Order: sequence, then structure tokens, then C-alpha cells
Amino acid sequence: MSNHERKPTTMDSGRPVASDEFSLTVGIDGPILLQDVYLLEQMANFNRERIPERQPHAKGSGAFGYFEVTHDVSSYTKAAVFQPGTKTDTMIRFSTVAGERGSPDTWRDPRGFALKFYTSEGNYDMVGNNTPVFFVRDPMKFQHFIRSQKRRADNGLRDHDMQWDFWTLSPESAHQVTWLMGDRGIPKTWRNMNGYSSHAYMWVNGAGERFWVRYHFKTDQGIDFLTQEDADRIAGEDADYHRRDLFDAIKRGDFPSWTLKMQIMPFADAETYRFNPFDLTKVWPHGDYPLHQVGRLVLNRNPTDFHTEIEQAAFEPSSFVPGIGPSPDKMLLARLFSYADAHRARLGVNYKQIPVNRPQAPVHSYSKDGAMRVENVTDPVYAPNSKGGPQADPERYPEVEVWSASGEFIRAAYAPRKDDDDFIQPGTLVREVMDDAQRDRLVSNVVGHLKKGVTEPVLERAFEYWCNIDKETGDRIAKGVRDE
Ligand code: NDP
Repeated sequence: MSNHERKPTTMDSGRPVASDEFSLTVGIDGPILLQDVYLLEQMANFNRERIPERQPHAKGSGAFGYFEVTHDVSSYTKAAVFQPGTKTDTMIRFSTVAGERGSPDTWRDPRGFALKFYTSEGNYDMVGNNTPVFFVRDPMKFQHFIRSQKRRADNGLRDHDMQWDFWTLSPESAHQVTWLMGDRGIPKTWRNMNGYSSHAYMWVNGAGERFWVRYHFKTDQGIDFLTQEDADRIAGEDADYHRRDLFDAIKRGDFPSWTLKMQIMPFADAETYRFNPFDLTKVWPHGDYPLHQVGRLVLNRNPTDFHTEIEQAAFEPSSFVPGIGPSPDKMLLARLFSYADAHRARLGVNYKQIPVNRPQAPVHSYSKDGAMRVENVTDPVYAPNSKGGPQADPERYPEVEVWSASGEFIRAAYAPRKDDDDFIQPGTLVREVMDDAQRDRLVSNVVGHLKKGVTEPVLERAFEYWCNIDKETGDRIAKGVRDE
């Protein structure tokens, strides 16, 4: 290919440049000239390449694909994205939670499973995890929880003592910690793990009937995991192991997929269910609420620019569509604010105009101006108006995703119910779901974790915490730590 067949390098202004290699100098060996504006632009832009990393979920990657409805759930939701036969462009971002942007993919941690559906009624986001539960149930504790998993103030190190201090003083964490210390705490690849909404959401059908639902994206590749030893070795050999696996699989045409199944609870059941169904430290047992199949998520396209398509991707549980709404889960209600706020802080107020975040559905909003706006604003800039601007249509789009509430303003835990116990479900997981080999690895993982810098009185509390989950497992953990 001759020089003239390739596109000429230009500055960001479009002006063609004279050289990709040499700066402009006075004579061959002379000083560099200030009028080498191409050099100045290169240096200045380079200095500004990095944007702040996400606070949690900094390390991750993602891909594009589609979601296809295979089963009729129109009697539960009117959302266009879940109507029979509908196929919707989708993107996903997988991540770890506590590690920084360059940290190893194989550290033991929950994995983010964040989805964006570009639906005909606007973007629908689901910011899920590969675990069906979470560590805390009140958003007041969330920031403290994340800080306890990240780094100390003094030496900038992660600290297991700090992690177990928080967990053992927060018994509601027991279910998620049990899950995390089990096999699924380090998935073999992102393709080999499930995704869960964790939170309960509301679905509303065309007749206005309401349901509480939980999403389960079951991997079609099969569940698989890494042992602690393998994960430690891989962390040293290839910190980007999961990122590479996903990219390579899609590149070779081995498109991963997940089957979406829903747990669906009739609206009135929530009032009287034996534990609070909006407490996301608990699952809804499958025996009570079996899975209903909905459709299939397929990933078939890699990003071509990691920064614009993955790093600048912004997911928020507040992006609902008609027929899907929130539930009284306090963690979810707080996340409706905190995710969008994180994007406004990290990417700027107009982050939804970045192509990866831009809805495919038409936008007729009254948002105006702000840093980095690229969409034109047109008059009128206010509502109501008599100048032909957009107008809300409550008959076509009524606010139906609602429930009622009343009471004094109060700071308190959820009202207790008969089976609201922090240790029942993790105990079931250990005794009834895990087999002997899984329990052995659980004990070994916890012993290894506790032996890395956990001190009294936290250590004693950790033994009690595990005895509360399962006496035999707790005794084995205490023995394992003390004996070696
Ligand atoms: P079920 O026997 O009906 O379901 C057991 C669930 O556990 C399955 O979804 C299975 O996922 C999952 N599972 C299997 N091995 C592990 C493991 N090592 N770590 C974590 N999860 C695992 O029982 P219940 O619905 O009554 O739930 C019992 C316990 O199972 C719960 O306390 C909870 O800890 C766990 N669980 C429950 C889920 C739910 O929504 N009900 C979801 C995930 C976990 P799969 O079928 O994909 O292999």
C-alpha cells in the first residue's frame, strides 16, 4: 500500500500533520518549538487519558449481544423487552468488586453482572451480581462495607482483619460470606457463572396486576470454579485472565449465553411471607417460588474500543421501563440514587449521550446544558408549554409500578418476621447444597483467609460466626486455624 492510499494522520481539529515521528525543532539538533501544536496536543491529551476508575467494580470487561424472549411472560409484565418473540440489543459488563482497575481477575470476590437492554421503551438496566444475595441490607452500611474490603488508611494495604471485623459485627453478611468462601467465590470464567438480580423488583402486566420478581440468568456453559491455589497462581501469571477468556471466546465465535428464569411472587404474598422477601441477604427458596423461563441472552460482539464502550459504560438500576419497577428493598432504593450519581461524578452529567449509554428509543427530555453535552437542546426548554414541546402522557404511561406505605419517620431494621434469621439460609447452603468436597474446600478457604492477619478479638468472633452458620463447620475452622 503506498503512502497515498492510507488515511493521513490529522490533529483532533482535522488538520493533516507532517510527521508521526519527529517534533519541530530549530535545525536538526535544535530546541523544540512551541508552535509544534501537534506535539502539544499529543502530550496534553495523553496526560488526560485516564478517567477516574469506578469506586467498587473498577476491574472488569464486557461485550455486546442480544436478549431473545423464548417463553410467554406477558401475564406478568407488559414490558416490551419481555414480550414473546422480542429481540433486544444488549450489553453486559462483568467485574470484581473490591480490586482496582489493574487488579487480578481471580481474586476471591463477588462478580458484577451488569446488563443494559436497549429496549424500544428506553434503556433497561439490571445491575446484578453472580450471587443471589448481598452482604448488608441497609444502605447506611454499604459505604462502610466497601471501605472494609478495600485498603487501610495507614499502609494502603488490604487487610483481612478489617474485612472480618466488619463481617462478624454484621451477622446479616453470613449468607453472602458463606457463598463467597465456597466454590462459586472464584468462577473459572465469567462464562461459567450465573447472574442474579439479587434484589426483588416489581413487574406489572397489561391489566395492572403487580408481582414481585427476582431474575436468575443461568449460564448455558455450566457452572465451573477455580480452587484457591489455581486462582492464586493465575493471579500472578495473567491478571486479566477473565477479561482475556471472554474476548477470546467471542473472537473465535464461541458465543456464551445465559437462560433467564424468573422467580415470581404474587403481590399480596409479600405481606405475610415468613421472612421479609425484600431483604436481599436472603433468597426465595425455589421450593416456594419456582423458576419461570423467559428467554436467552447471547454475547456475540466484542468491544472495539475498551475505553469508550466498556470504561465509559454506565449502568444504573434506576433505568426502568414501563412494566418494571422497584421494590421496598432499602438497598435497591438507595442504589436508584447512588449509581446515577456515581456516573455524574465520574463521567459527567451528560453521560447518557456517550454512544454506549445512548438509548435506541427516542429521547424527548427537558434536561439542558451541562458539561460535554453533544445533543442539541431546542426550545421550548420548559413544561408545561403551549409551543409544541414534549408532553407527558399519563393515560398511555401511567405510574403503575407503585405500592403504598405509611408510618412515623424512624431509623430501624426491617420489622422482624418469624423466619428472619441471618444464619438459617447460610446453614442450608452449607449442609444441604454443598457436598463433602465442597464443604472441605469451604473450610480450607476460610482457614486460609483467617490465617492471613486476622487477630483477636476478631478471630474469636469469626469462629462464633461460623458456628452460628453450622456448628461442625465452625469447629473445623477453629481447629484449622489453631492447629497449624
Ligand atoms: P435449591 O436446592 O432449590 O437450590 C439450590 C441452589 O443453590 C441452586 O440454585 C444452585 O444453583 C445453588 N448452588 C449449588 N451449589 C452452590 C454453591 N456451592 N454455592 C452457592 N450456590 C450453590 O434450594 P433453595 O432454593 O431452597 O436454596 C437453598 C440455598 O441455595 C440457599 O440458602 C442459597 O444459599 C442457595 N441458593 C439459592 C438460590 C435461590 O434463588 N433459591 C439461588 C442460588 C443459591 P444452580 O442450580 O445454578 O447450580
